Formats: sequence, structure tokens, C-alpha cells
Amino acid sequence: MALEPELFDALLDTVRRFVAERLRPLEAAVEAADAIPEHIVEEMKALGLFGLSIDEEHGGLGLTMGEECRVAIELGRTTPAFRSAFGTNVGIGSQGLVIAGTPEQKAHWLPRIARGAIITSFALTEPDVGSDSGAVQTRAVRDGDVYRLSGTKRYITNADKAQLFTVMARTGAEAGGRGVSAFLVPRDLPGVSIGEPEKKMGQKGARVADVRFDDVAVPVANRLGAEGDGFRIAMQVLDRGRLHIAAVCVGVAERLIADCVAYAGERKQFGKPIAEHQLIQAMLADSKTEALAARALVLETATAKDAGANTTMEAAAAKYFASEMVGRVADRAVQIFGGAGYIADYGIERLYRDVRLFRIYEGTSQIQQLIIARETLKRGG
Ligand SMILES: Cc1cc2nc3c(=O)[nH]c(=O)nc-3n(C[C@H](O)[C@H](O)[C@H](O)COP(=O)(O)OP(=O)(O)OC[C@H]3O[C@@H](n4cnc5c(N)ncnc54)[C@H](O)[C@@H]3O)c2cc1C
Repeated sequence: MALEPELFDALLDTVRRFVAERLRPLEAAVEAADAIPEHIVEEMKALGLFGLSIDEEHGGLGLTMGEECRVAIELGRTTPAFRSAFGTNVGIGSQGLVIAGTPEQKAHWLPRIARGAIITSFALTEPDVGSDSGAVQTRAVRDGDVYRLSGTKRYITNADKAQLFTVMARTGAEAGGRGVSAFLVPRDLPGVSIGEPEKKMGQKGARVADVRFDDVAVPVANRLGAEGDGFRIAMQVLDRGRLHIAAVCVGVAERLIADCVAYAGERKQFGKPIAEHQLIQAMLADSKTEALAARALVLETATAKDAGANTTMEAAAAKYFASEMVGRVADRAVQIFGGAGYIADYGIERLYRDVRLFRIYEGTSQIQQLIIARETLKRGG
């Protein structure tokens, strides 16, 4: 259910000010330390950011998809690593539970996820299983009232901090996604271990690591949905996650455009601000047009999703377009800043590196193209 309009406007305003006043001044420090300060994480918890998408009954804010996207756009106006601190709790880490959890599973986990008392991660990718995510090799073998879980998951966001993993593992002999089930796996079960955080191109402060399961006894009660439902659940989770990521891309693009306008107004060459040179204006116009188009696509898709429509194609299109769009906007921003765009002090090169990830995770651009084409062919246009 949507929040009262005044309440939602107040939330949006609070998030906008939090981003501008608390997060943006820390961007360079987060990059240098590769960590989000703990006091900031506590402030995020107090604002309810860990529970944006979780219903009020379970302690969250219960935002609609449209509302969540508008909040995500605001959060995109700073280094995306801040959003990652609670991104898995709001999205891929919790949504399997929201979509397919039993009332008991939800009551047990969701309130703590919503207030950030525990961190959740989503564990689908493996060393040999990426885009072809139905081919998971991690195995869960039924043994009385437990499943014995073994395998390795790769590039798992927030794995170093997570206390709960949604893990996709093969339970059946069926090929592809049909043999995959989903499990809630607490970090403290014997046999769960976490690798060292990976060194990454960007989004410093957001960590990814391997998660290894070595004959972990997972209670049958921790299975999400029926045996064989895991891949379908994972795809539903990603449908939603893709829209959220697309909204973040819009926010980053809007931030970059604002930075470009400010810089182009101050920087003078050939006796006038570079903003008065028409070739600079052309780059600004292209960036603005594309950012507006992405914003409209994201918000229209969110509205359709809230109305109960199947938005698999539209969410893939939004993620595809918005993630490619913000890459182009970041590239133009480096160009508009000239040499300063390449120098770390201005933060533009940092965002240029940060946004590269959006075309890769939660399904690469090529996978989005395949989904868009498949759904378009299925729908007949
Ligand atoms: C920072 C980061 C955080 C991540 N967080 C998580 C997480 O929390 N949980 C999780 O489960 N995973 C996570 N991932 C994994 C991410 O989702 C995968 O990296 C992504 O899905 C791509 O898989 P891959 O890296 O194995 O690439 P591959 O699948 O090996 O793809 C390599 C290239 O081949 C292309 N390709 C593959 N198949 C086709 C095809 N059929 N047609 C055309 N082109 C194709 C791809 O588009 C890509 O260009 C994360 C990754 C990163 C880098």
C-alpha cells in the first residue's frame, strides 16, 4: 500500500537531504577506505532505508515499486556504494523471502532485515555459472529433515557482513532451472565460510566475496517455496531488482548532469564559460534527453508493476537502457570536465568507474536484450 502523499514527500525530502548533506561529503573518504563508516550505516537504519520494500507488518516502510524507484533515484545522486550497504536487504537479499516465504519464515527474518539488524545476500552466481544462471552446480541433497548443501557462490554482494544468504542450489536431476531450489542459509551454520573481499574497478565501499558451503546441514524448513521453485523465485527477485537498479542509474545520471552544468558554467575557455560553446551544449542535451527518457521508462514500468502487470520485459528494457545510458552520460561528463574529468579530485572519474557495474550485474546488457527479445516475440510485438 502506498504511503500518504505527504508522508512520502517528507521521506523523499529527508533522503534528498541525507544524500546531499551526509553522504556526498564522504564520497572520497569511502573510496579511499573501501568501507562505509559505521555511524552512517546506523543513520541509514534510523531512516528506515534497510526496510524500504518490506511491508509495515514486518517492520518496513512498505513502499510501492513507484515510491521505491523515486527513493532509489535520490540515492543515485551519490556514490552507489552507499546504496549497496542496504541494497541487498531491500532487494535481492530479502525479496525471495517476501515473494515465496511462509508466514513463519517471514516473521522470523523480515523484521530484523527491515531494521538492518541483520544483513542478507543473494547467492546465485558461481565460478562456472554466470549469465546461464539456471545451470547452478551447488547441490542440496535431502537427508531426513535437512538438506546437505555443498558448492561455491561467487561475487556475492555484502557477503562479508551477511548473516543470511538466499542460496540457489540444485536439488533435482532435471536439467537447467527446473532442478533448482532456493534456501535461507544462516551464516552461522557449520560449513559456511566467506572468502576475502575482491578488489574491484569501482563502487569502493561495497564489497563482494565468495561464499563456500561445505556439507552444510540446512533444515528443510529453510527451503523457500517447493522443491524446483528456486530458479523461478530468483528470476522474480531479479525482475524487481532490475527496476531498482535502473532507477539508481537515473539518479547517477541526473547527478552527473548537474555536476556538468555547474562546471561548464564556471570553466572559461576562449573568453567565455564552456557552457556557451554549442558543442558542450550538444553533449548536455544528449545526456539530459537520455536521462529523461530513462526516468520516464523506469517510473512508467514501476506504475505498471504496482498495478499488477507482468513487467519482465519492461524491467529488462529499463535496466538495459538506463545502465547503458548512464555509461554514456558518465563518458560525456569526463569529456565536459576535460582533464579535470580524468583527475580524481573532481569525483567524475570515480562515478565513471562506478557506473560500469550496472551493465553487468543482475543480468548483463546482453542478457537483458535476450529477455526483451524473448518477451517481445512471445507477446507478438
Ligand atoms: C560487483 C559485483 C557484484 C555482484 N553481486 C552479485 C550478488 O550479490 N549475487 C549474485 O548471485 N551475483 C552477483 N554478481 C554476479 C553477476 O550477476 C554476474 O557477474 C553477471 O550475471 C554476469 O555473469 P558472469 O560474470 O559469469 O559473466 P558471463 O556469464 O561469463 O558473461 C561474459 C560475457 O558473455 C556474455 N554472454 C553470456 N551469455 C551470453 C549469451 N547467451 N548471449 C550473448 N552474450 C552472452 C555476457 O553478456 C558477458 O558479456 C555480482 C557481480 C559483480 C561484478
